[in-house]
Amino acid sequence: MIISGMVKSSLVDYPGQVAAVLFVPGCNFNCFFCHNRFLLEGAHNIINLKEIKDFLIKRTGLLDGIVITGGEPTLQTGLISYLREIKELDYKIKLDTNGSSPFVIAQLLQTGLCDYFAVDYKAPAARYPEICGNSASAGPVLKTIGLLLEHQAGFEVRTTVIPQLNEEDLLCMAKELPVVPRYVLNRYRVPERYLPEDQNRILETAYTQEHVNALKMVIKGRQPNVLI
Ligand code: SF4
Repeated sequence: MIISGMVKSSLVDYPGQVAAVLFVPGCNFNCFFCHNRFLLEGAHNIINLKEIKDFLIKRTGLLDGIVITGGEPTLQTGLISYLREIKELDYKIKLDTNGSSPFVIAQLLQTGLCDYFAVDYKAPAARYPEICGNSASAGPVLKTIGLLLEHQAGFEVRTTVIPQLNEEDLLCMAKELPVVPRYVLNRYRVPERYLPEDQNRILETAYTQEHVNALKMVIKGRQPNVLI
């Protein structure tokens, strides 16, 4: 298990909880608008796991939970044993994932170690390779979401409304998904780092918050639990 970054306290990464956020390096997708591009390039900065554990022991009672994010946490060998260590400290655990590893999610569901999941659904299935890199596919993501529903796990699905997604795309995505317990549409922000060849699409005009709110209303018929 490799951790490459830590936010010691966050009020916005785990709904209703005060949480520390741990970032793992590496991802099997390559979304052009990734906000953590430095993590895609591998583990340049490795934080000692004992230091993190000592910090978490000291913060018992002050923090409610831990968010494991990235990068893509399900690619980490040793993820389950690491989460077990955290659980022994009595923290709630939220896992952020791109949804590409349903077999890992199935294992996590068996262990009961995660209290909450956030799964990104990034594009209509037909546009996954274009938006998330050539090897990306929506099939495993939909399988992950199906498993979470089947196990009645606490989870949300998130979509960043990048400028390249239009109303038709969002409606298509809302229909491709089963009805999910919480669907979050996030406004697009320009990332600090991006690939030079992506400059044009990165700098396309973002939707305003008002427009994103209007898009939420468009998909509400299909996804009644979209966060308004
Ligand atoms: S799945 Fe997430 S971490 Fe991976 S490239 Fe896409 S935005 Fe970045």
